[in-house]
Formats: sequence, C-alpha cells, structure tokens
Amino acid sequence: MQKHILQEIIDSLHAQYLKNNDGEIATYIPELGKANPAHFGISLATKDGRIFETGDSDQLFTIQSISKPFTYGMALEVFGQEKVSQHVGVEPSGDAFNSIELESGTNRPFNPMVNAGAITVSSLLYQHYGDEALEVMLKRFSDAAGRELSVDEAVYESEARTGHRNRAIAHLLLNFGMVDENIEPALDLYFKQCSILVNCKDLAVMSATLSNLGKNPVTSKEVYEITCVRNMLSIMLTCGMYDYSGQWAYKVGIPAKSGVSGGVTAVVNRQLGLACYSPKLDSRGNSCRGIDACISLTNELGLHAFDCMNIGSSYLKVILEE
Ligand code: GLU
Repeated sequence: MQKHILQEIIDSLHAQYLKNNDGEIATYIPELGKANPAHFGISLATKDGRIFETGDSDQLFTIQSISKPFTYGMALEVFGQEKVSQHVGVEPSGDAFNSIELESGTNRPFNPMVNAGAITVSSLLYQHYGDEALEVMLKRFSDAAGRELSVDEAVYESEARTGHRNRAIAHLLLNFGMVDENIEPALDLYFKQCSILVNCKDLAVMSATLSNLGKNPVTSKEVYEITCVRNMLSIMLTCGMYDYSGQWAYKVGIPAKSGVSGGVTAVVNRQLGLACYSPKLDSRGNSCRGIDACISLTNELGLHAFDCMNIGSSYLKVILEE
C-alpha cells in the first residue's frame, strides 16, 4: 500500500534532521541530563483523529513547560479571564523563561509561559482545588492526550530538590500579592505538572484537541471550553517558544510551545496538532531538531497562518480527504 503523503513527509524530515547533532541537553534539573541525545520523534494528529508518527514517537519524556498553556486554560475556565489577568499578563517578556522579573506598574508576571506566570497559575489552581489539584490536572491532561498520564517521580524529586530559582520567584510573587501564602504546595504542584510524562503522540493529540475547538479528535471528549482555547492559542503564538517566539511567529506562524526536556508542540487551527521530541536544545532552550522539523513541515505544507494564499489549510484539507 502506498504511504500517505503526510507519512512520507515526516519520514523524510526525520531522516534529514536526524543528522543534526547540534545543541546540548538541559542539565540544570539533574535528572533531565540522563536523556538520550539520539532520540528523535515526530507525530501528527489530524482533526479527524488520524495519527501519523515516525522515529521515537513513543519515547516518554517530561512535559516541562509544554504544560503551561494547558494549566493556563484550566485557570481561565475556573476564574475567568478578568480575574486571571489580575494575576498574570499577556505580553512577551523578552527575558529568559526563568527570569526573576515582573511587569512594571502591575507587578504581574509578563505572561503564563514564563515560570513566574506558570507558578502563579499553579497557585490559582491550588487555591481552587486544594490538595486535589494534581489529580484534576492529570485528569484534564489525560483527557486532552486521550490516555492516562502520570508523574515521573524521579524528575519531580530532582526538580523539587534543585528548584531554588523557582522558589525565589514564588516568594517575589508573594511579596507583590500575586500568589497567596501557600507557596510550597503551589510550587509542589508546579514541579509535578512539569514532571508529567508524555510522548510525541500524546502532545500531538493534546494540540489536536486545541485545534479542534477543545474537543479531542480521537476520543471525541470535550476537554477545553472554546473561549479558553482562543486565549491559550494566542499566548502560544506570542510567547510559546521562549526568546525565539517572535522569530517563530514570523517563520512558522502557528501557535506552539516547547519545553526544556526537548519537546515542541504546535497547533494548526481546525486542522491538526503536531509534536516533535529530541532532547538537544539550542541556546534559547528549544529542541534543535524539533525547530528544524517544524520549520520545514510548515513550509512544505504552507501552514503559516498568514500564508499569502492560505494554502496551509486548503492543502491540508485536500490531502486529508485522500
Ligand atoms: N520545570 C522547568 C523549570 O521550571 C520548566 C522549564 C521549561 O521547560 O521551560 O525550570
């Protein structure tokens, strides 16, 4: 049987970029340093629930910062946009993800994709759900991925033991009244959320859920409210790729989020979710092979949201109907 064109494209991108050995594995969380630099997987999940995957797409890794848009969406649903925006802004920071800096004037974290913003969101979720927050979060992430997810205890412990900078951020947030005094449980929730184990396929389905107006296209479960999905995707487009977000929006032009363990996921609205995993990172903290593969894939398929003829959506529509 002839290979589907999407399978052909990802197989060829995988072969091409496997040769790229640039970058370094993140080691500031000691347990992450144990990742295998050879791993490289790519997955796509379409709006009609089809999965295309290649390479190490089943390899598990911790979700890290890719959790951030998904917890932000949960907080928006619980508290509403107005209340959440009193605690966290929506501006790109131009600073590193772990910067100990807040927006002047408001003292809010710049956005929910930097650690300060994500810790604030975890604190809000802890305020609402208390000790059940992790369970609720795991259930929501699992619904988005379409299978039951769990926490990698070794990474969680490694991160909790060494997360002094995140503790400092949390104390600064407390000083400005952005989080309440339950700092330790909020941080614990944040460390655990970052340590949730996923593979490329999970991330592709989670993104496909966002692309499909909040409904998981594989299981048909409604996971996120549409109004929140719009906000999640907007933040991913402007702030999702660390200090590369501007260039990403310019070159790739679709909402995305990356994490220090080497995952990248992106959303083609109404069409598909895609994900790459390879642990070697560039100087900005994005997966080297992941960035290469995403740039080529989006160019090849014309997926940029502002492509001159919007060929992305229409081309995909045609090939998905094949
Ligand atoms: N858990 C990591 C930290 O807080 C997440 C960083 C990331 O993936 O950007 O340092």
